[in-house]
Amino acid sequence: MTTDRAPVVTAEVRQVALPFIKPFVTGFGVTASRQTVLIHLTDADGNEGWGEGPALDHPFYLPDTTATTFGIAADVALPLALEAGDLSPASVAASMGVIRGNTFARSGVEGAFWALQAAAEGRSLQELMGGSGESVPVGESLGIAATVDETLEEVALRLSEGYGRIKLKIRPGWDVEPVRAVREAFGPDVMLQVDANAAYTLADVDTLRRLDDYDLACIEQPLQWDALLEHAQLQRHLATPVCLDETLRSFEDVRRALDIDACRNVNLKPGRVGGLTASLRIAELCRERGIALWCGGMMESGIGRAGNLALCSAAGFTDPADMSPASVLFEWDLVDPTFEVEPDGTIAVPVAPGLGFAVRADRVEAQTIRRSVVLGPAV
Ligand SMILES: [Mg+2]
Repeated sequence: MTTDRAPVVTAEVRQVALPFIKPFVTGFGVTASRQTVLIHLTDADGNEGWGEGPALDHPFYLPDTTATTFGIAADVALPLALEAGDLSPASVAASMGVIRGNTFARSGVEGAFWALQAAAEGRSLQELMGGSGESVPVGESLGIAATVDETLEEVALRLSEGYGRIKLKIRPGWDVEPVRAVREAFGPDVMLQVDANAAYTLADVDTLRRLDDYDLACIEQPLQWDALLEHAQLQRHLATPVCLDETLRSFEDVRRALDIDACRNVNLKPGRVGGLTASLRIAELCRERGIALWCGGMMESGIGRAGNLALCSAAGFTDPADMSPASVLFEWDLVDPTFEVEPDGTIAVPVAPGLGFAVRADRVEAQTIRRSVVLGPAV
């Protein structure tokens, strides 16, 4: 299918700022906009490919940042991708395989080549990835609230909106109490899980063990971001499946984690593992091993979500994805129309050829902070 593909004629990387509806407050500070990195390709037939490398703007989640993702994508990843033997995502991923780490840059570049191939072949991303089904189930992630009552109110709201799974962020001092309150208020049928974002150590095993009483789908990333071995030690003491997020940064990381029983549940973010090709291999591995798998969120724009939605419809994804509609976070999306959550707690998988969403090039242009042209006319 790729032998008679038209050549790529323009290739560029942009850093853009998406304004939040209200300033976003986390333990890392207050931000007014979500800066992300976009990769844009066009071929000689006029087909377009958009990809997104949604690293965060600080190195407190993973070493990758918006700035490093922009720099590596523009200086290394995209030039290597353009030298790939053909333009297929697999060849592009292989060509960029010499890059160590920098998974968000590689993922964003590869994503653009996925969308370009889908456009060139007149197929949807879902078809190209071998996914199936019209929609995928999604869950909602709730931040740490001021009071347990506030959390109960928000859980009630999210369940009424149809979300099929509730995830509570926890930290020492905010763990057993809110979990017990939610379980007692909403009953045994609500799918409930927690995410610790690396806030605990092995010294907290007794506290974490108390969470076994509440039938959680998983405890996500309880220990430090690179503590693979320690998670295996912890899992031995817990009935609740440990889920890993930050620790899993490649297909090989997932294989190692499963080999030593460091987790029994996998949060997969394409940007964190180096792209959609690696993601599909991880899905296959989890399916073979009978491991629960779901797609996490990085507050992507609709450009990044397009690939995630198609990916979630592939075999191996067993649990609801972390995916709020863009309208919850942003004043507007970079795609229009954007996606919405249906009353049954699902999001429709795009069926249109190419990316599957129409990109608002005017908004991308207006929100561009910096741009690097790798191929094509200089700015
Ligand atoms: Mg997480």
